[in-house]
Amino acid sequence: KHPTDLNVLADEYLKLAYHGLKAKDKEFNAELVTDFEPDSGLLEVVPQEIGRVLLNLYNNAFYAVKDKQLTASPDYQPTVRVSTRQLNGYTEIRVSDNGTGILDTLKGKIFQPFFTTKPTGEGTGLGLSLSYDIVTKGHGGSLTVESLEGESTEFVIQLPALSQAS
Ligand code: ADP
Ligand code: MG
Repeated sequence: KHPTDLNVLADEYLKLAYHGLKAKDKEFNAELVTDFEPDSGLLEVVPQEIGRVLLNLYNNAFYAVKDKQLTASPDYQPTVRVSTRQLNGYTEIRVSDNGTGILDTLKGKIFQPFFTTKPTGEGTGLGLSLSYDIVTKGHGGSLTVESLEGESTEFVIQLPALSQAS
């Protein structure tokens, strides 16, 4: 683990995910909204691992807004938001999108390995289970989700200021 500026990490990976997607699909446009609490300080994390978690969440968010765009009205504005804030003893990162949302009946399954609703070749179903392990077992934090079917999804990562995991 290294002292890491989460705002920088969250921003870098957001651009990486977005530009990676646009390279494959030039038509795709989404609004990126960032709200980083300044001076959030450094956190002891494995940057590549937390980066991987963020990339998974961002890719899922972009997929969900693209998917929604297929059936939404022409004035639909795909938006992915990322925010950070400092709470008592931990840092919180929120990744939200106004995409398809998650069916209530599936919410309990999305963190299971190999669970995916994506067509073969588009999803392995491993992103969230891996992310969950990295955040909880690897960093002593938590990863939770809130979603409104058809409307929006928000993932919340909480990382302890001093990582409890070794
Ligand atoms: P994959 O992306 O390969 O399907 P994940 O573990 O990353 O695997 O996600 C599992 C499932 O959770 C997805 O197939 C999708 O059904 C659901 N999901 C995850 N993130 C979102 C999101 N932002 N919006 C809607 N559904 C989501
Ligand atoms: Mg995924």
